[in-house]
Amino acid sequence: MESGQLSRAEALACTGCRHACHVMLFSDTKSQLFGQIPIRHIILMQMRFDGLLGFPGGFVNPSKESLEEGLSRELLEEIGVAVPILEENHVNSCYAPPSPSSSSSSSRLILHFYMKKMEEEQILDIERAAASTAVDHGHEVLGMVRVPLYQTKNGGGLSLFLSHSFIGNARLQLVDCLLRFGLIPAKHLHKALIQAETMHKYINLRYKSEYKTHQQ
Ligand code: AMP
Ligand code: MN
Repeated sequence: MESGQLSRAEALACTGCRHACHVMLFSDTKSQLFGQIPIRHIILMQMRFDGLLGFPGGFVNPSKESLEEGLSRELLEEIGVAVPILEENHVNSCYAPPSPSSSSSSSRLILHFYMKKMEEEQILDIERAAASTAVDHGHEVLGMVRVPLYQTKNGGGLSLFLSHSFIGNARLQLVDCLLRFGLIPAKHLHKALIQAETMHKYINLRYKSEYKTHQQ
């Protein structure tokens, strides 16, 4: 196991731990943006209630349901479709990075990540249901978003997307899956990550200087 990673069985053996499961649902597509930029894959993420980007899913109680049943239940609430998730869709499990709000006495959280390839038509159905029948729409979930895998000439696309703020380790999960399943050439991803870091720093610096100006 990679450092910090647990097997599914090791994770389930932790009796005092809490568990959360999230999934990357995606499809291939032949569609093109503006009729000329190939989209290649539709990868679903969501804008959460807290303004962070994340994958659909949530807390699961393994004493009452399997991890995969719990994840399907969460998907019904968040995207309006109880997409069946199988053990073979499991990608990895790891301890959640410590968050500023969690006290040292709260039980450890284990994050389980899944990935499921679907047909394009099924993904389009999910996008429709997520904005209409999903009970969490407008509450826990502000909307589904697609991950742009392309770069535009003016620096938009994947690098700008990666410069946003993500919940927990969602950014890492996304990057890992893009590489692991060959959804984007490694050198394109590497370049986008470097650009994203520069943009993030630049945005923060500009914000700080604007804030100072307003204070004066
Ligand atoms: P949720 O109910 O979806 O907010 O998820 C339960 C917990 O999982 C929260 O404490 C999140 O901070 C955490 N979490 C970790 N990784 C992710 C992820 N990739 N997407 C969404 N939530 C995540
Ligand atoms: Mn959730």
